Amino acid sequence: MSLIVKPRLVKLTTRTEVDIKRSFPQPALRRIGAWVFLDHFGPTEQVDGMVVANHPHTGLQTVTWPFAGEVEHRDSVGSVQVLRPGELNLMTAGRGISHSEISQVGPKSLHATQLWVALPDANRNVEPFFEHHDELPVVSFGESSAKVFIGSLGSAVSPATVFSPLVGAELQVSGEFSLPLNPSFEHGILVVAGEVTVNGQTVGVDDLIYLEVGEKAVVSGAGTAILLGGEPFDEHIVMWWNFIGRSHAEIVAWREAWNAQGADWPSFEDKVGGWIPAPEMPNVTLNPRR
Ligand code: MN
Repeated sequence: MSLIVKPRLVKLTTRTEVDIKRSFPQPALRRIGAWVFLDHFGPTEQVDGMVVANHPHTGLQTVTWPFAGEVEHRDSVGSVQVLRPGELNLMTAGRGISHSEISQVGPKSLHATQLWVALPDANRNVEPFFEHHDELPVVSFGESSAKVFIGSLGSAVSPATVFSPLVGAELQVSGEFSLPLNPSFEHGILVVAGEVTVNGQTVGVDDLIYLEVGEKAVVSGAGTAILLGGEPFDEHIVMWWNFIGRSHAEIVAWREAWNAQGADWPSFEDKVGGWIPAPEMPNVTLNPRR
């Protein structure tokens, strides 16, 4: 039996009307490869859209993958990009970037996943950059298919930039098939719609099935799911607010620099306005952890 991970329900200060479903990190599952954060939200009506003012990131990549709705992204390296379902926005924060996001009026529903990838120590201070991909490869398995947004699966190779061995794909499940998984990766499959069975276990909507390194995946049913995988990522990191560092002192320095809004963080124009200050830090030393 594989581990079924239920999401933790989270209220975001920026979206108080809806619960965000966080698959990890949580005690039952810290990460999958270098994927260190997975939120799933919606589908919801646009009465409470996504309006996230300018905020920073360091040491990570953000992936936004929508199923319905449209989100405009703007950032401190000058990017302006509307993101639509089936397209990838990938932001490499490296030594530091800031961005804002606002859902677009028009589409009635908003449904998306947001993910973070931890950058390896050797690459975590790269210059920040942003990439958008609206042509992503699809691999078919009979009536089922996978659109690969990160890494590769079978013959499909994503053009997105990654810094450690990873895979990320949207699965359209219709009937039974075997996924050609990398045997050196651990994997997770998050179901976002329909009914999906993995290795004989039914996985409910919002649940994630975790597969250890080397485990196979026979998938059946009818629905939509996200496949994530990667080589186990053993670096010890400190994740606090929107930063990923290696020490408490590093987080403190980033927090102070952001809240001072100095030259380290170039400003940019957007439709949201303002910026989100970093909260108070806890009264304990943050320790790097696996
Ligand atoms: Mn962000």
